[in-house]
Amino acid sequence: MRTRFAPSPTGFLHVGGLRTALFAYLIARQTKGRFLLRIEDTDQGRSVEGAVEHMLRTLHWAGLDPDEGVMMRKGIIAQEGTKGPYIQSERLELYRKYAEQLLNDGHAYPCFCTPERLTQMREGQMARKQAPMYDRHCAHLPKKEVEEQLARGDAHVIRLLVPHERVFTYTDEIRGEVAFQGHTIDDQVLLKSDGFPTYHLAHVVDDHLMEIDLVIRGEEWLSSTPKHLLLFERLGWTPPKYAHVPLLLNADRTKLSKRQQDTAAEEYMTKGYLPEALINFLALLGWNPGTEQELFSLKELTEAFSLERVQKAGAIFDLAKLDWLQGQWIRRLPLAEFADRLQELTAERFPEAAHDAHFKDKAALIHERVTFLKEGPDMLTFFYVDPKVDLDLLANGKQRVTRELLPKIFKVLVETLEKISEDEWTVDSLKEKLLARAKVEELTQGQLLWPLRAALTGLPYSPGAFEVAVALGKETTLLRLEVARTSLQK
Ligand code: GLU
Repeated sequence: MRTRFAPSPTGFLHVGGLRTALFAYLIARQTKGRFLLRIEDTDQGRSVEGAVEHMLRTLHWAGLDPDEGVMMRKGIIAQEGTKGPYIQSERLELYRKYAEQLLNDGHAYPCFCTPERLTQMREGQMARKQAPMYDRHCAHLPKKEVEEQLARGDAHVIRLLVPHERVFTYTDEIRGEVAFQGHTIDDQVLLKSDGFPTYHLAHVVDDHLMEIDLVIRGEEWLSSTPKHLLLFERLGWTPPKYAHVPLLLNADRTKLSKRQQDTAAEEYMTKGYLPEALINFLALLGWNPGTEQELFSLKELTEAFSLERVQKAGAIFDLAKLDWLQGQWIRRLPLAEFADRLQELTAERFPEAAHDAHFKDKAALIHERVTFLKEGPDMLTFFYVDPKVDLDLLANGKQRVTRELLPKIFKVLVETLEKISEDEWTVDSLKEKLLARAKVEELTQGQLLWPLRAALTGLPYSPGAFEVAVALGKETTLLRLEVARTSLQK
């Protein structure tokens, strides 16, 4: 299937938009079709400089690069494909042509109503508790008058003539059968007085000419769908299938809003969420696999996803779930990849980390402990900065390590560790030798290992003593123990 994502460049990519893009991408992949990106910039007043680039970068980060249409090539915005241009402001002639065809066929009419008249009309309707819609004043103008006004070049829009007596039904891929009464449908403006099309005309023309098979878009467009189907019919074209995805909601079931939640996908990127986690999270907003499985890679989603399992009801944006998925995805990263991503970040703080041949061992120690990569450098600080000796930390009532006992403990530690050769400096042999010695000296494991770990890291919590000693290496381990031991004597 040919599917498309058609954002308007009015700001950052909304998380709801990213989810729509994801669904369209998945269907294209699943059906070995193509995923297009089209820019809908006919509302020039709302277009924001740089928005297209931001959106493309965010899509790329998420792994949703388009196959056709607007894309980044060597850092600049490019268009690829035979059905372009893929930016609506470059297609104005096409929209005008089809608007004229509709006019000539009597399916649309020019409307000369001034904004003042329309406001007055709307206020009257509201006062009478009627739904606001165009009253068709201009649909009934005498032909001669219309021609005169057009000849004079009077400002006008073009409106779609909706047959009021018709009932419009269609089958939505998510919602099933949907019906709308013709008389509730407004005579939609198709072409504005500035010659720009509205979304309604533009996307119908584009979806036809770009041979889109399935339109996946937000629920807010559901009620406009009959107009779109009517346009397809009036233009003599076969419409695509439609799937309207449910709204994203705040925890209190109101529409997801900036005030309660970050709504720009980019903010999640900056906060350090993995694209894998955000994609997994967005997929589960509205879709459920029908099994217990919760972790899905993009590839797994491509296999498992189906529109039939997308719900109609709004989906609650539950950040706790996102954080949980983030933790899962961090741990799911292969160690080598985790270490690579972390090394870069750590080197920003501790330049020597960039050339640390043992970085992977260090990363391994915290792989299970971080939720965000950015927590990593903090946790690794003790590898790159000698800890301060803290007597209150070295002694520990819970482990029955008293201050009086510390000199003995350090003596035992240094003596035992000195005898272990560099070649044997592994977790297993350190463990074996230290625990054997603890027994001989009648010390508990905790009495020996707590001060060791505390002296090496300067932290109340960290990976275990053996692992830390191995990652630090013999030389640094003994150096730190000596420093701690010396401060005991002061
Ligand atoms: N430009 C429209 C929007 O951003 C696209 C809707 C659609 O996918 O047709 O909401």
